[in-house]
Amino acid sequence: MPIDACFQKGTLPLSFEVFPPKGELALDQAERVVGELASLSPAFVSVTCSAGGSGNSANTVAVASLVQNRFDIPALAHLTCMGATAQDIAARLDALSDAGVGNVLALRGDPLPGAALADFRFAKDLIPVVAREGFCVGAAAYPEGHIDCLDFGASLEHLRQKQDAGARFLVTQLCFDNDQALAFLEAARNAAITVPISFGIMPFLSKDQISRMVFTCGASLPSAVIKLLARWEHDPDSLRAAGIEYACRQLAGLAEAGVDGLHVYTMNRPEIARAAAEALACYR
Ligand code: FAD
Repeated sequence: MPIDACFQKGTLPLSFEVFPPKGELALDQAERVVGELASLSPAFVSVTCSAGGSGNSANTVAVASLVQNRFDIPALAHLTCMGATAQDIAARLDALSDAGVGNVLALRGDPLPGAALADFRFAKDLIPVVAREGFCVGAAAYPEGHIDCLDFGASLEHLRQKQDAGARFLVTQLCFDNDQALAFLEAARNAAITVPISFGIMPFLSKDQISRMVFTCGASLPSAVIKLLARWEHDPDSLRAAGIEYACRQLAGLAEAGVDGLHVYTMNRPEIARAAAEALACYR
């Protein structure tokens, strides 16, 4: 099923992100995680790929195939083009097609040290290539702007270019502040970005994890989050519980505001997906 079809008025699609195992295929472990997520009836499950797309791209296909074929849940395979040639991309699309995966999140990927740009500069250059092959294509959106782009207006213009290139839905980078997420939604609509936007939410689980995230994607930390981090600094279990509870409150708040969809970065932890599904039970 093309994933854009799940964003219909009056429904609140909840979806999950998983990452494939690195190195040796640990598919039995991935199968257990995906099985637990599938039991929560998500609208789709997205499967990340490593920067550069080389390292674990076979695992992305394998896990996306599991999602789609073994559990009958629409799979959204991430595909990055940084450093890839047109032939590389054609081969990856063939592999997805052969596996029966028809939905792709088309991404540039983060710059790799020493990597040349190869055939694609931006995600907007990849999107039409993927769409031409018959895939339903989604793209990434950044509620606080992309980390490399200091001008929020330019960030919105780049997002609109992805829609114009053929992206049929958007999934956002994590954001810890609902006011910021909703202000972005309004700005995007004012900038003629009309495709459905699913908001990505990631619970904080530790101070290290959150500082890595903040410095890789430029998300800001509201004082409520900083206070929770300070309060539970020396109690990892309570910090994790507070992070999941905060994420669930965010999800409920965005559902209440009537967003198109919600996407949970599960970090392969079914308990996060379960908590999210419970928090949203009365909205789905
Ligand atoms: P683009 O849209 O190409 O943007 C990249 C930069 O170029 C931005 O700063 C943008 O403002 C700028 N830009 C775009 N168009 C123009 C233009 N016309 N002129 C000038 N500047 C322009 N990474 C992975 O490696 N694997 C994953 O699986 C993965 N999954 C992700 C899932 C989601 C939902 C999100 C939000 C991000 C994900 N990422 C992943 C991270 C993503 O690859 C990085 O954020 C990357 O740096 C940008 O990718 P993009 O597709 O948004 O790029």
